[in-house]
Amino acid sequence: MKKHCIPAGRILCLLAAVLLFAGCNRVVQLAEPVSATERAIGTVCSITIYDIDDAVFSTNNLPKDKPALAAKLIHQSFKRLNEIEQVFSASLETAELYKLNLTSGTGTAVPVSDELRSVLNAALETARNSGDAFNPSLGSVINLWDISSGNGHIPESGKLKAALADVDSSNVIVDDAAGTVLLKGSQTKVDLGGIAKGYAADEVARLLRDAGVTSALVDLGGNIFTVGGKKDGSNWRVGIKNPFNPLAVALRVTGKDFTVVTSGVYERYFIEDGVRYHHLLESETGYPVQNGLMSVTILGETSLQSDMLSTAVFVAGLDKGMELLKDYYPGVTAVFITDDYNVLVTGPEADLIECLDFDFTLYKTAN
Ligand code: ADP
Ligand code: MG
Repeated sequence: MKKHCIPAGRILCLLAAVLLFAGCNRVVQLAEPVSATERAIGTVCSITIYDIDDAVFSTNNLPKDKPALAAKLIHQSFKRLNEIEQVFSASLETAELYKLNLTSGTGTAVPVSDELRSVLNAALETARNSGDAFNPSLGSVINLWDISSGNGHIPESGKLKAALADVDSSNVIVDDAAGTVLLKGSQTKVDLGGIAKGYAADEVARLLRDAGVTSALVDLGGNIFTVGGKKDGSNWRVGIKNPFNPLAVALRVTGKDFTVVTSGVYERYFIEDGVRYHHLLESETGYPVQNGLMSVTILGETSLQSDMLSTAVFVAGLDKGMELLKDYYPGVTAVFITDDYNVLVTGPEADLIECLDFDFTLYKTAN
């Protein structure tokens, strides 16, 4: 049999080619995080990518350049946020929810996207669990206060009374088989302001993880999602604001892969005759809840759940809020800050939370 010998010169050429190929194959690393801050979904959103898995580049034909991929993923994330706004906004005339709200009282069930129906179903479930403390049918009342626009004012009592008559989450009827939603009362309007940012944070985190991001911080107007740990593998430290002075941090959450969301009286409000009117409303009166709480922070399983429960538990108040968590959401950890400077931390991950400000008295319970 004839033997095939490769001449020495050709071996050298082959070796050079292999080395050259290996050189091209080296991935450009992220020396600095890649970050962007923009207005989206009605708030200021920041997305920062600290690292991407090297393996991503060996399984596809992307340029082996982490900064370029990070910039592309951030661009895609903001595009996704704008798409989400076009579904869930109650004030943008082009949004699906805005258009759904135009059909209230017509008696017609209208086709609604799977995405909107699934978030609406989650909101309605929490409405049932919380006895309508969390109430997605508050849309007309929320519009009357107009707090989120920055032009907040006390509604006329006649108008408030009329709007309140149609506030009832059972007036929102979702038919998943038919893919429709029916809004029964003539003033029954859906508002998902207490849940949509959480859904959006989950979507951005999913997009980043699916693309191989191993370390990132997503901050959608205080709705925080940490992807992985810090670039060096250590824990993130995320502050919980002091509700008496929102520029200062009162507590800290330490961990990896968590989402933390706060609802507080300081977030959106206006002051009239020395009284603070904030954006967390009671279904019965249509007025901002006054229950001794300054803020509620939730560390939940998803950002959607955390966002929804921060609003639900705040409105339910300390005692009923704790009951709601114990009965329906035992995996959730909550931080209540009261107007007399007490901090109550309850739930399975209470250990992740520490108090940094000695003006507050910290109590921890196992739930
Ligand atoms: P933020 O939007 O400032 O982060 P939240 O997540 O707590 O705060 O959501 C508050 C928003 O939820 C309000 O601006 C309003 O759109 C809506 N909302 C107010 N009261 C209720 C309530 N009782 N149930 C459900 N949604 C509410
Ligand atoms: Mg919320």
